[in-house]
Amino acid sequence: MKDANFLKANNARSLWHPMTAPSDSLKNQPTIVTGAQGVRITDVDGHEVVDAVGGLWNVNLGYSCQPVKDAIAAQLDTLPYYSIFRGTSNDKVIELAEELRAFFAPDGLVRAFFTSGGSDSVETALRLARQYHKIRGEGARVKYLSLKKGYHGTHTGAASVNGNANFRTAYEPLLPGCFHIPAPYTYRNPFNETDPAKLAQLCLQALEDEIAFQGAGTIAAFIMEPILGAGGVIPPHPSFMPGVEKICRKHGILLIADEVITAFGRTGAWTGARLWGVKPDFACTAKAITNGYFPFGAVMIGEAVAEVFESDETGRAAIGHGYTYSGHPVGAAAAIACLAETQRLNVKDNAAARGAELHAGLLALQSKYEAIGDVRGGHGLMHAIELVSDRASKAAPDKATAGKVQKVAYEAGAMVRVSGPNIILSPSLVLTAEDVQVILSALDAGF
Ligand code: PLP
Repeated sequence: MKDANFLKANNARSLWHPMTAPSDSLKNQPTIVTGAQGVRITDVDGHEVVDAVGGLWNVNLGYSCQPVKDAIAAQLDTLPYYSIFRGTSNDKVIELAEELRAFFAPDGLVRAFFTSGGSDSVETALRLARQYHKIRGEGARVKYLSLKKGYHGTHTGAASVNGNANFRTAYEPLLPGCFHIPAPYTYRNPFNETDPAKLAQLCLQALEDEIAFQGAGTIAAFIMEPILGAGGVIPPHPSFMPGVEKICRKHGILLIADEVITAFGRTGAWTGARLWGVKPDFACTAKAITNGYFPFGAVMIGEAVAEVFESDETGRAAIGHGYTYSGHPVGAAAAIACLAETQRLNVKDNAAARGAELHAGLLALQSKYEAIGDVRGGHGLMHAIELVSDRASKAAPDKATAGKVQKVAYEAGAMVRVSGPNIILSPSLVLTAEDVQVILSALDAGF
């Protein structure tokens, strides 16, 4: 490793950080992480903390998952790469597709299309949704609906369905034909509705209204995260996603579940779709599929959609889409090992148990500190606390407030993530009860 002075002096000189203004990295030194073990990371100055972000919502099994590391190393020795474009395949990706088929069977998802990450997975589902309608002779169905505050990645298609201006404005014009409906966000919503069940119905009505306004025959798909993540961890009322599914079915609109964060146990269920009891047409996955150790993703495809593609004899079902790294054998080997560990350790149950402890602790902090306006979570290990400058008016805090909390919490032992006025927590699912207490006391120090 280069020495600390070299790393600190040169970080901003030759690299631009995603989601960061280049001038910001010149002014504010980022935390330079140089090592990690278990659920802890160590920075260039030797300071060790619990990583309450779990990498970037992806290191579900922690940093020391030896079976995944071994699988990657072994695969590099056997077959470090081979493409699965037309005419070739590789053994690992076939094995993985079978494993995923079994894992996602309860969600009605029966085929896998491989990608290099979450944005790729979203792009793939959006494109295949349009193609599905074209194969069926409904080529006018080209529009997409999604939720305000939703996050779906950064490709132009994904950014077009994103519901947050921060990820859109600089890159407009984006795809035409993308429309957003209000998210079931109880703390703040345009209906001033504080009852989550009633709010779910209002948002569903907004979806029906938008479909009627656009014309159902022009809409290809609705995409949503089962629990909104980057937008500030917003779990919808349990009636919401089943309601969306029902409306989509009624109007022939495909339902894309963006499970890039929620698949593989994070919500306390194996998938977000299963948490809410829905069967989407596509599920976009990435992140924890390889525990963050290899860039990889998969779009899982529902039975009815697969049947339309597979029975077509006209040539319209030829998939003119794919990535050089689709089905990468090293990624596939990592994912096979990951899936085995995920199930062997039954991480969804630990996510539920530790998540409940973390949630209770965050509510206790809320009763102690006026600056905590809202605490969200309650489903596994994805939580947010929303900061305010005044509880009664819910006025937004000073822009620097969340960053200050993050800095002090880091010094006190936990890395947390800032997103607007929210402090986000998405730790590894192998967290212990002691680790939960470390996170809570670090946050306590931050206020
Ligand atoms: N979809 C969701 C729900 C996400 O949270 C993310 C990333 O955070 C993406 C898509 C994009 O994934 P990636 O950053 O791997 O392209």
